[in-house]
Order: sequence, then C-alpha cells, then structure tokens
Amino acid sequence: MRINKLKPEYVGTMPSKSEMKEGVLYISRVYLTTAHLCACGCGNVVVLPYGRRDGMFWTLTERLSGVTMRPSVGSFNLPCKSHYYITDNKVEWL
Ligand SMILES: [Zn+2]
Repeated sequence: MRINKLKPEYVGTMPSKSEMKEGVLYISRVYLTTAHLCACGCGNVVVLPYGRRDGMFWTLTERLSGVTMRPSVGSFNLPCKSHYYITDNKVEWL
C-alpha cells in the first residue's frame, strides 16, 4: 500500500533493512545519507545520499514543516518503478 507521509528520524548509522519501519525517513548527518522503505510498500530500501558529492546527490532541506528532498525519488531500478517527491514530510506521487 502506498504511503503518503515519511516521518524523519535522525540516526547515527543506518538501521538494517529488517529494522526499518515503513513511513520513516532515516537521516544520518554523519554519512550524509537518508534511507527509507520505498513508499509504494514493496519493501525495498531506497538510499539517497545528500549534500555535495561526486556523482548523484540530493538536497535535503529541513524546515519546521518537515523535510524536503530534491530532485524526485525515481526508483526505476526497482520492479515498482516508484516515482515521487518528498516535500515537507509528504510523499507526492508523480
Ligand atoms: Zn516500491
């Protein structure tokens, strides 16, 4: 089932897949990485590095209203091919 909200949770190291809960965006400031279970409910882990790096990276914006990641999350390598924005903790399906 599709999820429409991702609650940020700050961690030191990323939890393992079996420890991850749906609807939580795990953020590690140490590793400049976020991870969450795909919002479609398929159970795959989506890892998004953020900040300045070589290659592909996202921006993570933190406001009182929630966290926003850009560009969109496109899991085209997964069978579900999920594509969505994370905006102010909300999942905006594309
Ligand atoms: Zn999925």
